[in-house]
Amino acid sequence: MSYIGRFAPSPSGPLHFGSLVAALGSYFQARSNKGRWLVRMEDLDPPREMPGAAQLILNTLEAYHLYWDGDVLYQSQRHEAYQEKVDEWLLTEKAYFCQCSRKQIKALGGFYLGTCRHKKLTCEKECAVRLRVDKPITHFDDKIRGRIEIPPTLAAEDFIIKRRDGLFAYNLAVVLDDIEQGITEVVRGSDLIEPTGRQIGLYQLLNTTPVDYLHLPLAIDEFGHKLSKQNHAEAIDLQHPKPTLIQAMRFLGFVIPKEIQEAKLDEILAWGCSNWSINELPLKIEITTPFSNGAL
Ligand code: GLU
Repeated sequence: MSYIGRFAPSPSGPLHFGSLVAALGSYFQARSNKGRWLVRMEDLDPPREMPGAAQLILNTLEAYHLYWDGDVLYQSQRHEAYQEKVDEWLLTEKAYFCQCSRKQIKALGGFYLGTCRHKKLTCEKECAVRLRVDKPITHFDDKIRGRIEIPPTLAAEDFIIKRRDGLFAYNLAVVLDDIEQGITEVVRGSDLIEPTGRQIGLYQLLNTTPVDYLHLPLAIDEFGHKLSKQNHAEAIDLQHPKPTLIQAMRFLGFVIPKEIQEAKLDEILAWGCSNWSINELPLKIEITTPFSNGAL
């Protein structure tokens, strides 16, 4: 089977150093496996999106010469496919409506205990749809991290596939889209280790072999916070991509010879594809560096 990888940014802000690391990791892994590299725009949550961010992200990838294959898939165009599955699972009682508020769940200890599982609620307004988790996924294998255990309470939780506000849940969309796009391996930040069990559960429900998983080290700032759009991580430099590209490649474990550092973007990336090794990825720590634009 030929390799298909992807980068799946959420357009909640411009591309920052952490998302560049995820883009590069998935790019090098796909290209060094002679595979395709797709881009999917995860525009699933309009209230958290920044107008223009989707295009800005694509422009940034182009400025870094990270050229994707085929057309960009937009999750905002996929609602019908998501709703079809939600309806099917409601009908076959694999999913159910839930009216519990976040506050109520918190009062019961923070984990959802299946309160509405057998209530056979119909939905007048403001209901989430939860999936019945009958076979919890308690562990999975990560390509570089090995066996990852999932805490039992988390694994057993009936999780949300459609939110109370009517938006589709990330876990549902990501799995249906990875299947639709024929993805064979997911390479992404280790902040997404936690939901992986749920995603594998969805593959099982869909009778489909799950993708392989590789979770990259996470970039954190000097205060120990994950670089994220919510934490207002700085946008990466579009005008002078080379220093940031080199910095992100070093973060991924590359030791880059001087002549490559001085080469053109395409040559640096081609060198990266031939020298990529997942065994060089730093795993234990998520490196702390004060990231700032152009400060190299
Ligand atoms: N859209 C998610 C994010 O930007 C990534 C989803 C994934 O790679 O599975 O954090």
